[in-house]
Amino acid sequence: MSTPGMNTKPALPNFDVEALRRDFPILAREINGKPLVFLDSAASAQKPRVVLESLRKTYEEEYANVHRGVYWLSATATKNYENVRKKLKTFFNAKDEREFVFTKGTTEGINLVAQSWGRAFLKAGDEVLITGLEHHSNIVPWQMLRDQIGIKLVVAPIDRNGNLIWEAFEKLLSAKTKLVAVAQVSNALGTILPIQDIVRAGHAVGAKVLIDAAQGAPHMRTDLQALDADFYAFSGHKLYGPTGTGALWGKKELLDAMPPWQGGGDMIKSVSFEKTDYADVPAKFEAGTPNIADVIAMGAAIDYLSALPWDAIEAHEADVLAYGTSLLKAIPGLRLIGEADHKAGVMSFVLEGVHPHDIGTILDQDGVSVRAGNHCAEPVMEFFGVPGTARASLGMYSTRAEMDALAAAIRKVQEIFA
Ligand code: PMP
Repeated sequence: MSTPGMNTKPALPNFDVEALRRDFPILAREINGKPLVFLDSAASAQKPRVVLESLRKTYEEEYANVHRGVYWLSATATKNYENVRKKLKTFFNAKDEREFVFTKGTTEGINLVAQSWGRAFLKAGDEVLITGLEHHSNIVPWQMLRDQIGIKLVVAPIDRNGNLIWEAFEKLLSAKTKLVAVAQVSNALGTILPIQDIVRAGHAVGAKVLIDAAQGAPHMRTDLQALDADFYAFSGHKLYGPTGTGALWGKKELLDAMPPWQGGGDMIKSVSFEKTDYADVPAKFEAGTPNIADVIAMGAAIDYLSALPWDAIEAHEADVLAYGTSLLKAIPGLRLIGEADHKAGVMSFVLEGVHPHDIGTILDQDGVSVRAGNHCAEPVMEFFGVPGTARASLGMYSTRAEMDALAAAIRKVQEIFA
């Protein structure tokens, strides 16, 4: 951003956010005659040029279906596609690249665990423990499983700031708890959950632990071996990769023991009318033609992210979040929803007397793109007694200047509704 009068001072001497922004072509465009201020990365992040270039290269030069061709193009596409698992293994420090099952996003990953692991290994009365700040995609799959096999869904409460109430969470853990499924970061509130402690506490009662990393993976590096969770689901499109991508990571011995959840081509060793032998993981869970070019481009996003200084990026994002939060808190009549002790990437707010959709629409006139609504977290909205919020969410390319633009645009909304 180079709008005159804005605070464009880079937050950190060793991180040049303006240089990083130049890697994202869309950030240079205008909306309604104003520089784009993109504050909806929690819904889906923008893509660096290397991702777009990867898509072009696959389709123009290296495209064919994977896994079944004996010809060069198919072998090349297969190699490029399978290589992405190696990239994920390194990026997340997993033990084995076969532990990554490609999905179209976090939602599909969680549904896979519910329908495959859940149906095979849970029984009526077993408890799945989630928290009060979960996204619908970490609620509904468990309700569906409850209706199918009679598990019990237990919800650990959050406090008025959006923190998980640890003592209450611990009390809800028991020998009946077979799975703990929690967000790494809340999309509606920005709360960072203490997932390392949650993994330890879950394992201590013999439960498996699933992390919904849709919002966590884009904001912090996670070492899967150190974390020692059992499942970790994330969305490639929130991690600066293409839409329709993501992965479910699971411990190999769990994935090996789980039945497939969709049947078809590519997930079998042999088929007759009497019997089918399934392929080994991860193919067992990837029935049908996969999202070839997009997965390969997710690999380009991982390469891109792997080359970045993550400590500096995390510090930069924290700085922009703190700066933006201080600006919003200074606006009379604005209520921040979610003021947890540890937060990443999200500022949800309501304005007295203004519907969140009106906020979103008016901000857009100034080129400021925010999301308005319940953010697929209706129970969170109910807890805070609001129908929805306006939500500004950050990516690594977000700047202090954009926070200035956001605050200025919110003040304009207030003038209109004054
Ligand atoms: N969990 C959380 C915390 C999310 O923010 C989202 C996306 N908003 C999801 C799950 C679902 O991700 P996807 O839509 O990519 O499947």
